[in-house]
Amino acid sequence: MRGIGSANAGKLARLGIATIEDLLYFVPHRHLDYRDVRPVGELEPDRPQTVLVQVWNVQVATTRNRLLRITATLNDPSGACQAFWFRARDYISAELPTGVPILVSGTPEVQNGILTFPDPDWEVYRVEGAVHTARLVPVYHLTAGLNQRWLRRSMQRVVADYAPRVVDHLPASLRDQHHLLDLPRALMQRHFPESESLLEQATRRLAFDELLAIQLGVLQQRHQWRCPSDAPVLEAAERVLKPFADTLPFSLTGAQQGALAEIVADLARPQPMHRLLQGDVGSGKTIVATTAMLIALASGYQSVLMAPTEILAEQHARTVGRLVERAGEWLWPGRRRQVTVGLLTGSLSRGEKEELVAAVADGAVDLVIGTHALIQEPVRFARLGLVIVDEQHRFGVAQRARLRSKGESPHTLVMTATPIPRTLALTIYGDLDVSTIDELPPGRQPIVTRCLGPYERPRAYQFIRQQIQQGRQAFVICPLVEESAKVELRAATAEHERLQRDVFPEHRVGLLHGRMKADEKDAVMRAFQRGELHILVSTAVVEVGVDVPNATVMLIEGADRFGLAQLHQFRGRVGRGAQQSYCLLVSESRAPESLERLATVERTHDGFRLAEEDLRLRGPGEFFGRRQSGVPELRHATLNDVQMITEVRAAATALIDGDPDLASPEHRLLAARTRAFWRGEGELS
Ligand code: ADP
Ligand code: MG
Repeated sequence: MRGIGSANAGKLARLGIATIEDLLYFVPHRHLDYRDVRPVGELEPDRPQTVLVQVWNVQVATTRNRLLRITATLNDPSGACQAFWFRARDYISAELPTGVPILVSGTPEVQNGILTFPDPDWEVYRVEGAVHTARLVPVYHLTAGLNQRWLRRSMQRVVADYAPRVVDHLPASLRDQHHLLDLPRALMQRHFPESESLLEQATRRLAFDELLAIQLGVLQQRHQWRCPSDAPVLEAAERVLKPFADTLPFSLTGAQQGALAEIVADLARPQPMHRLLQGDVGSGKTIVATTAMLIALASGYQSVLMAPTEILAEQHARTVGRLVERAGEWLWPGRRRQVTVGLLTGSLSRGEKEELVAAVADGAVDLVIGTHALIQEPVRFARLGLVIVDEQHRFGVAQRARLRSKGESPHTLVMTATPIPRTLALTIYGDLDVSTIDELPPGRQPIVTRCLGPYERPRAYQFIRQQIQQGRQAFVICPLVEESAKVELRAATAEHERLQRDVFPEHRVGLLHGRMKADEKDAVMRAFQRGELHILVSTAVVEVGVDVPNATVMLIEGADRFGLAQLHQFRGRVGRGAQQSYCLLVSESRAPESLERLATVERTHDGFRLAEEDLRLRGPGEFFGRRQSGVPELRHATLNDVQMITEVRAAATALIDGDPDLASPEHRLLAARTRAFWRGEGELS
């Protein structure tokens, strides 16, 4: 890069900057406002200001910690002030010129009765304009050995030389429509803005570009998903909805009906459905999914439901089995045929597996429920019409695609209990349509939630003891351990031992952790389900996503280290039976922010509100936790800006509708940019 020595190029490389383009996009993280230029006589203490002065004299003194303190007296016709800097011993004092006008910017303080600038920025006055003073001055993130002054000066040259030559990838019509600066201007103003308003417009333009790349990527993916028009047309909803509803002991909530209506419409179209069904724990997704499976069945097709663990698959098989027990009577009146449900998991014997696989292949099994084994085994379906994936954040895009490939162009429904804030639903899940169940069935008792300090632990234990005496059970979640699975295991083992030996010697305490094999985990979970264990200690990484209606207490250690959405997930593990349930949040931290966050969980039982709050507080990467990939790293945009995301989504939809492959000449640059963005993210296949 011209004008940048090789030593500095090496340092820039550490910031991920290898090309001029990288440098142009390496934008400042803030600006200092030094636009208030005044005569010295009108300076006010404690606010950023600039003066145009001459250096009257310079004094250099050595400080106790062997630095140089350089003090300058500065004046203009209206008066005099001072400035000082600390420098290393090899500082050359001639750097500060006398006899020429210089601009000095900083926040003066009164010291010994004199207005004094501590460590101000300064530069020699030039008619072409200032870089470090008297304007909105960029501040860049630095790395060891790079100094702000050098980077700012280099950046000023690079921006002036190269930004005007950048070719804008956005068609002018689109820029006009969305009131966007052109790219060269945006880059210049982003670094060296002429006004706050231009800085804002520049930031908006760069954010727009980033969000547009995301949207074009996901919408192209979406377009591909629904391109084929050979999906089975499952239009037997009429024959299912009413008779099935009549067998339920309750009526569906408005939200369930809304989601179901969207699914019913999708299933009846020859384009494959690709829909996300989100709803808080206990919002009743299973009924909706079961209805969809029955519609497929009534239309002559099989369905498959994949769950992330064996125990969850079994639970689904039981629930669904119960729900469809009498469906044969109204589906096929007089035929004495029943709806068949098959459960395929890793723990079936070879023979059982072969038998089931054969029955699925010749169409004798109507609804197939299972785990990963569904993709691992050579399972073929006679007529697969609908694929349902539960708890999607455990399955990758590739696994979903493999399951889909078991049918011709089956419809896909992905279910999640982690509420996804709207902005994320429109971006990283932007390839899916979204249905939301945002209402709980009536009559649910809210889970009493209390935030406790560490000194209140004995009370919490006493409370658990009382609940166990009344025949109930409790979960204890160990603090999140970032270091490693090994450290986490050690901490969980110690906690388990302590609780069993010192606190609850009279009760049976079980342990669940991430290092256990799947069948060991299932065994512990089952023992807890059967009531053979009174307390289950679990590490945070193990999602205990399973129904234990008898469990009424969820105690979470180190609650301040979890995201709000995650705390809410844990809380959803209790309150599944008739008994009043409790969630106890133990926090070592007394920091006001932590307490305020936990108080939000105490007050709020709405998973969506907590998820939005979490996203706002911690950003999207943290929101999904360590295991989630596919959250693009953004430099200019945030995934919190609903209004902008909605606007960009509309723009991208219009583009893709008109030119799905972005193949027209005016979209060539845009297509290249979108590919480059997603290549960097390495997610979108
Ligand atoms: P989710 O899978 O969304 O967490 P489930 O489908 O397991 O929730 O439903 C939780 C419980 O609520 C189940 O016992 C179910 O029978 C019950 N349920 C579902 N829908 C309703 C409704 N509309 N009214 C009353 N109870 C319902
Ligand atoms: Mg569920």
